[in-house]
Amino acid sequence: MVENWNEIRHDFPALHQLVHGHPLVYLDNAATTQKPNIVLETLLHYYRHDNANVHRGIHELSNRATTAYEAARVRAVRFIHARESSEIIFTRGTTEGINLVAASWGMSHVKKGDEILLTEMEHHSNLVPWQLLAERTGAKLVFLPVTGGDEGLLDVDRLDSLLFRRVKLFAMVHISNSLGTVNPVSWLCERARKAGVVTLVDAAQSAGHLPLDVQQIGCDFLVFSGHKLCGPTGIGVLYGRQELLNEMPPYQGGGDMILSVDYAASRYKSAPHRFEAGTPDISGAIGLHAAFDYLDEVGRDRIWEHDQLLAACAHHGLKDKKGIRVFGPHAGRAGVVSFMVEGVHSHDVVTVADQKGVALRGGHHCTQPLFHKLGVESTARASFYFYNTEEDVDRLIEVIDEVQRFFS
Ligand SMILES: *Cc1c(COP(=O)(O)O)cnc(C)c1O
Repeated sequence: MVENWNEIRHDFPALHQLVHGHPLVYLDNAATTQKPNIVLETLLHYYRHDNANVHRGIHELSNRATTAYEAARVRAVRFIHARESSEIIFTRGTTEGINLVAASWGMSHVKKGDEILLTEMEHHSNLVPWQLLAERTGAKLVFLPVTGGDEGLLDVDRLDSLLFRRVKLFAMVHISNSLGTVNPVSWLCERARKAGVVTLVDAAQSAGHLPLDVQQIGCDFLVFSGHKLCGPTGIGVLYGRQELLNEMPPYQGGGDMILSVDYAASRYKSAPHRFEAGTPDISGAIGLHAAFDYLDEVGRDRIWEHDQLLAACAHHGLKDKKGIRVFGPHAGRAGVVSFMVEGVHSHDVVTVADQKGVALRGGHHCTQPLFHKLGVESTARASFYFYNTEEDVDRLIEVIDEVQRFFS
């Protein structure tokens, strides 16, 4: 149990450096998070002592690598409260998980005239794969709108009328990476289930920030990326309900996913191995296991409280300033604050902040259609994690003061 949040910063070597002569304030956690020592050491230990391919050799190192890789899968079950390890597929990340579902489940279940329901606040990762599916099948995309104004809340009253039609799947983001909106995914999935619609939850911004329970959410699929929760890049998880995975065709073909191969045809393993063709990201999965352990030791309930506290401080500090327009919900927002400084392009905001050691992100944050709807081209975004402090928020507010002075 961690006593204080400042102490935790010692676990993250990358946080302790000067950037352009200033102590780094890393506020780009919605893009990726920093890695704690335990994850770095786990990766190094694996490569130093246990490196081998999995599920193949029967020599000692291969046994160790296989055991560690499969232990990561069992740990993932506990991290999101799935039922069994066959429901956990290791992917490259959120994007690949969604593409897998769109290609495999989508191509075998979606026909011309069917509809895929999305929300208007999806990341491009949860939009473009469905556009590709729609092009290939003749299906149509429909959208649950966001309400007017800058808050960016889902217009949930519209859901039931949209679910009445030929909707086959409803894919929704849990926490918006550009606005910090937290969507009521349990409720949305329940409505969808009653209408016989399959659901997918994009948990890229939630899995590492709050306790996540796929059975309580009641979704059919859920995806997230390791790198956004202190794990390595190149590894992620697709959770799928057993009954659905077992009737889905393979996504990619190759080694390790087959029972037997003939020149003409092959028989495939069942889930999860059916969906993990070729040598997987073994070290990534093992590093992800370390990240899961680390986060649960810190406590995701406490992380969530801390995220919300920092976001509320930043929101307050910014919205009271003249010439700043803040986006996202007024209350109950996740650790993401998007804003515009009047008369200053977001790239200039980010550049000035960087000169002072404050790492922000500027742009449309992979949610271009949402920004068109809000009537803006781009915003600057500060996104927090548990190793950020109230001093980091102060530094953010200071640097925005400087931006305003500089460009006035
Ligand atoms: C980052 C992000 C993605 C994409 O994740 P990758 O790791 O790039 O595959 C998808 N959705 C949301 C909400 C995200 O924040």
